[in-house]
Amino acid sequence: MVKVNEKCMLCAGCVGICPVDAITLYETGIYIDEKCIGCGACIRFCPVGALEE
Ligand code: SF4
Ligand code: SF4
Repeated sequence: MVKVNEKCMLCAGCVGICPVDAITLYETGIYIDEKCIGCGACIRFCPVGALEE
């Protein structure tokens, strides 16, 4: 399961990258739900390295 760390700047880019729509953006941060299949696309995409396995 992917986790988000404090580096997230809420750019929302990863939300559109996820093939299973597992990422939701809220005002306070992003949330990754149980639909995540661990493909790693969001980790590779995030420009600030805010996502990790
Ligand atoms: S791509 Fe990275 S910085 Fe942008 S919303 Fe996702 S986790 Fe945050
Ligand atoms: S690892 Fe893949 S499935 Fe999981 S949240 Fe990131 S892009 Fe979506």
